[in-house]
Amino acid sequence: MKFLSSIMRKFVIGGNWKMQILKVEEAVSIATEIAKEINDILTENVEVFIAPSFNALYSVGKAIKGTKLKLAGQNMYFRDKGAFTGEVSADSLLDAGCEYVILGHSERRRIFGESDAVINQKVKKALEKGLKPVLCIGETAKEKEQGNTESVLRTQIEGSLADIPPEQLDQIVIAYEPVWAINNKFLNPDSEIKTATPEEAEKNHNFIRNLLKTTFGEEIAFKIPIQYGGSMKAANCEGLLKILDINGGLIGGASLSAEKFKPIIEAAVKFGKI
Ligand code: PEP
Repeated sequence: MKFLSSIMRKFVIGGNWKMQILKVEEAVSIATEIAKEINDILTENVEVFIAPSFNALYSVGKAIKGTKLKLAGQNMYFRDKGAFTGEVSADSLLDAGCEYVILGHSERRRIFGESDAVINQKVKKALEKGLKPVLCIGETAKEKEQGNTESVLRTQIEGSLADIPPEQLDQIVIAYEPVWAINNKFLNPDSEIKTATPEEAEKNHNFIRNLLKTTFGEEIAFKIPIQYGGSMKAANCEGLLKILDINGGLIGGASLSAEKFKPIIEAAVKFGKI
């Protein structure tokens, strides 16, 4: 077996714009600014994507073409085509210029009822079509309080990644996003939203890495980047991104302007480990 240190692992920073930027023109303008700001600072092993709303994908894709900034869908259906009102296909995401697709975000799981079985079908379809899935997992405040964090993470990983062809596994990114840390008053109405401390994040990232090792083997487990997500911003990103098993971030609120997003990308370049 190769030395793990000779294997390339990407460091991936993603901006999840959710339903926050409502006009195509605004999305294009922010994306253009982010692309301009980061083009000269990105190193070979750091990738950055943004995930605008579906209506803006094509125009944003055109605007950032030829830059280092990559495009992602926020969701995708697992069927190729057909009478599925309100859904979007992998081919449509590819047509808009997407390279990544966020799947199983906690807002999809908890507000729209997506199950691991459905997310598993989406992951398989994305991989079949050549899109890189960003698989989101994470426990709620209640699950954490009950001491169930590890069993929730295990169930989500085993269910969402069931029967994936081994040769495709290195195309996957995992985003560990504790639901209680996501800046979402709808999901966290009663609790104060806090970022995970570096110690908490490190513990759960280590757990995920070890689970990947026992499930898929050491080499694949090493190659899969594990992003942290949940209120990451300029003020806290360095403490998180310098942890060995944190290989990037999925960022909501702090990705909505170049000014807020750039310091996180700079920290990723500083701490990006191969
Ligand atoms: C997210 O929902 O993926 C996220 C991390 O959001 P925020 O950074 O706003 O907490």
